[in-house]
Amino acid sequence: MGALEVREGFIELYGAEPEGVWAAPGRVNLIGEHTDYNDGFVMPFALPHVTTAAVARRDDGVLRLHSADMPGGPVELRLDELAPESDRDWTAYPAGVVWALREAGHEITGADVHLTSTVPTGAGLSSSAALEVVVALALNDLYALGLKGWRLARLCQRAENVYVGAPTGIMDQTASACCEAGHALFLDTRDLSQRQIPFDLAAEGLCLLVVDTRVEHAHSGGEYGRRRAGCEKGAALLGVDALRDIPHDGLDAALAELAGEEEVARLVRHVVSENARAERVVSLLESGDIRAIGPILTEGHASLRDDFRVSCPELDLVVDTALASGALGARMTGGGFGGSAIVLTDSADVPTLTQAMEEAFTKAAHTPLRVFEAVPAAGARRLA
Ligand code: ADP
Ligand code: MG
Repeated sequence: MGALEVREGFIELYGAEPEGVWAAPGRVNLIGEHTDYNDGFVMPFALPHVTTAAVARRDDGVLRLHSADMPGGPVELRLDELAPESDRDWTAYPAGVVWALREAGHEITGADVHLTSTVPTGAGLSSSAALEVVVALALNDLYALGLKGWRLARLCQRAENVYVGAPTGIMDQTASACCEAGHALFLDTRDLSQRQIPFDLAAEGLCLLVVDTRVEHAHSGGEYGRRRAGCEKGAALLGVDALRDIPHDGLDAALAELAGEEEVARLVRHVVSENARAERVVSLLESGDIRAIGPILTEGHASLRDDFRVSCPELDLVVDTALASGALGARMTGGGFGGSAIVLTDSADVPTLTQAMEEAFTKAAHTPLRVFEAVPAAGARRLA
C-alpha cells in the first residue's frame, strides 16, 4: 500500500487532506532473544513490511483513530481521558503513544489518524511496535518535537508497557525506529548504544527466510511475565543489576551459585549464552562471514527450546525440517510460543527447503505456514 492510497483513505474518512504520510516497519530479530529485558544485546533488522499512517493535527483535544485492518469507522477518544489500561482494544497502542508523549510534557492537542499495514499481526514480527512508532514519528514531525529515534522508541515502549499493559523490552520499538536498509542493528539495551552492521545476504548468495507458523503468540500472557520475573530473580540471587552483568566465562560459577534453583539457573544459562552468541554473530558479520553465523542461530534455538522453554512444536518442526533439508542455520525469533522462525540458507536451496517445510506442516495437520524472504529494509520514515 503506497502513500497515495493511504492519503486517499484519509480523505475519504475525514473529508480533509492529511498533513503527511509516515511508515514504520516490522522486524525480525537475527539473534539476542529474551535478552532485551536483561540489559543485554539484540540484533534485529527491519522488514519491508510496514504500517503506514496518514495524519493531521487537531486543536480540540480529540484523537480519532482508524485502521483499515480493523472493522468499523474511526474511534474517537478525548486526550484528557486517556488513562493506562483503560482501553482493551487495538486503539490502546496509538492512544498509548499520545498518552506517553503528553506525560513526557509534549503538547499534543489532537490528531486524526488513518492506518494501513502489511505487517502480519501476532506473528512475532512486531506489528505492535510498527503501529506505535509510525504514530510517534508522525506526531514528532507534525508537532516539531525534535525527538530522536531512540527517544521515540522509549516512549513507545512506555506506551506498550504502561498503557497497553504488555511487559515488552525495548528491542521492537528501537528496531522499527532506527534500523537502516542493508543492515542489522546491534543494540546494547543497557545504554541503547547502536551499531549498524552490514548484512548483505544477496551478495553472498544467501537468503534469510521468515517462516510464520501461524500460531498466534500472546505477549501479555503469563508465560512472558514469568520468564521475566525468573530472570530478575536470577539477577537478585547473583547480586547483579541485570543478567547482562554475568560474563560468559563467569557462567559456570554463576550456575554453581544457583544450585537448588534449577528453573532460574536454566533461564540464566540462556540469557548469558545468548549475549555471547550475539557478540559472536556481530564479529562474524563485521568480518564478512555471514555463512558462519548459521550454527550460532541453531544453537540459540536449542537454548530457547530447552533452557528458556519458549518454543512450541510448530517452531521446532520448522527448525528441524529446515536443518534436515540443508539450511545453514535456523531458530525461532521473537518472544516465542508461536510466531515466526528464521532460516538462513543458500538462495539456490530455497525452493527445496520451502517445499520440505510445507510438506512437514501438511503431514502434521498444522495450519499452512507462510514463508517469505526477508531483505533488511529501512526504519521508520516520512513518505509524503
Ligand atoms: P506482534 O507485535 O508480534 O505482531 P502483538 O500482540 O504485540 O503482536 O501486537 C498485535 C496487536 O497490535 C494486534 O492484536 C492489534 O491490537 C495491534 N495492531 C497491530 N497492527 C495493527 C494495525 N495495522 N491496525 C490495528 N491494530 C494493529
Ligand atoms: Mg508486539
